[in-house]
Order: sequence, then structure tokens, then C-alpha cells
Amino acid sequence: MADNIKRTVVITGGSRGIGRAICLALAGPDARIYFNYFSPGNEAVEKAAADETEKLVAAAGGSAAGISVNVASKEEVTAFFEKITGETDRIDVLVNNAGITKDGLLVRMNEKDWDDVISVNLKGTFYCTKIAAKTMMKQRYGRIINIASVVGVTGNAGQANYAASKAGIIGLTKTAAKELAPRNITVNAVAPGFIETDMTAVLSDKTREAMLGQVPLGRAGKPEDVAAAVLFLASEGACYITGQVIHVSGGMYI
Ligand code: NAP
Repeated sequence: MADNIKRTVVITGGSRGIGRAICLALAGPDARIYFNYFSPGNEAVEKAAADETEKLVAAAGGSAAGISVNVASKEEVTAFFEKITGETDRIDVLVNNAGITKDGLLVRMNEKDWDDVISVNLKGTFYCTKIAAKTMMKQRYGRIINIASVVGVTGNAGQANYAASKAGIIGLTKTAAKELAPRNITVNAVAPGFIETDMTAVLSDKTREAMLGQVPLGRAGKPEDVAAAVLFLASEGACYITGQVIHVSGGMYI
């Protein structure tokens, strides 16, 4: 790593959507970005998406390395962070962004769909936060930003597993903020509303219309809208903010 690179930034789920926009927002000559991605059975497509994120970050004057890592696997997450600290000896910013949905009404939801969503969204955030926090505690500096969701606060019919995972992330955020504050580590969450990504592209026109009807600003958000809030929370300007949930939702929940 070049001497002029000062910050090590880790972003989960950086190959597409909001995660890619966060990689780009945090990219710069003073940051070395590591991101992961994971799509079993779709490796070639997702590797191409990760390569594209790397290229876009390079074009923005930064450097990024994308690695296939399942955040729901403790072993893979451990190896991922060992590789990073082996190369840079630091972790300055962690953004827990990787997330999936497996929607269905509660009474019809099978246990696998419940477990899969909790494992990736909530347990993945726990694994990454726990490991990164140890390095941050030693260096007495860190910024952890968790991507939650408005539905983690409001609930949403058809998303019991997802809403529970995001509500869990908010509780984890507030607890970690209290535990890690003495070591100068801030922990905050960003709660996006309805953002145009692959995750929402699968929704029916009827569902989209219903969701947009709940947005006072009258439009869906862009991944860059979420990335701007993450960029702020990772900046020195946010040094006195911890344990907070910033909604980026066009006013969906006021
Ligand atoms: P997306 O376009 O589906 O991208 C998801 C990203 O997560 C991809 O990079 C994906 O990797 C990665 N990923 C999925 N499972 C993973 C795993 N097990 N291990 C590591 N990486 C994994 O989703 P998005 O809309 O950008 O969402 C990003 C975050 O924002 C999620 O936490 C989501 O819950 C949250 N959010 C989104 C919205 C919205 O409206 N879009 C609203 C509220 C909250 P591959 O490319 O390999 O699949």
C-alpha cells in the first residue's frame, strides 16, 4: 500500500446498488476501499459487477478491491478481515450494507426464509462489527455505519424477516455506540426508504405505486442519496454523532 493512503474503508455488499454508490462516495486518493459481495450460483455475473465497482472507483481517483465473501459465514468474514488487516494494519470505516429480502406473509413464511434473511442482514452485521471493532479499539478510532431500513422502524406487511433484521440492526447500532464510545468509535445507522436498485426493481407496479404514495417528496431515492448520508457519518464533521438513525426516505417516516 502506498504511504499516502491513510484510511482503510470496508464496505459489505459493494458490487451493486447502494453499496457501489457508497464505495464511490468514499473513494479518494487517501482511502483504500475493500468491499465484498456474494451471490451463490451467479458468480460470473457478480464478479463482473464487482470488477465494475473497482473500475469506477479507480476512475474516481481511488482504489478498491472486491472479494467474494458471504457475510453470513463467520469463517469467511474472519478470513476477509485478516486479509485486510494483514495488508493495511487498520480499519477506519466499516459500512455494513450487504442485505437480502425473502418476502412473504408471516403465516406463510418458512423457517429457511426467516433464517436466511436474519443470517445475512443481522448476523452478518454482528460478525463484521465484532471483528472490525477489535482493530478500531486498538487504534482508538473508528466509524461504523449500518444500513438499516425505514421498515425496521415501521414494520411492513410481507417483510417480517426483513423488518426484524433491520430493527435488530438498529438495536445493535445503539448498543455498540454505547460500548465503543469510550474508544472514540462512533456507530450510526442509515435507514433508507424506497431506493431504486435491483432489490426494488423486482416489485410490481402496484407495490411501487403504493410505496411512492407514502413518500412526501414524491419520488424514489437514488443510491447516491443514501451514500451522501454515509459519507457525512464517515467524515470528521460527524465526530460528535453516535447511536443515531438517519432516515433517507424522502420523508416516508416522519
Ligand atoms: P442490492 O442491489 O440487491 O445489492 C445487495 C448487495 O449485497 C450486493 O452487492 C450483493 O452481492 C450483496 N450481498 C447479498 N448477500 C450477501 C452476502 N451473503 N454476503 C456478502 N454480500 C452480499 O441491494 P440494495 O438495494 O443496494 O441494498 C443495500 C442495503 O440497503 C441492504 O442492506 C438493504 O436491505 C438496504 N435497503 C435498501 C433499500 C432499497 O429500497 N433498495 C431500502 C432500505 C434498505 P452480489 O452482487 O454478489 O449479489
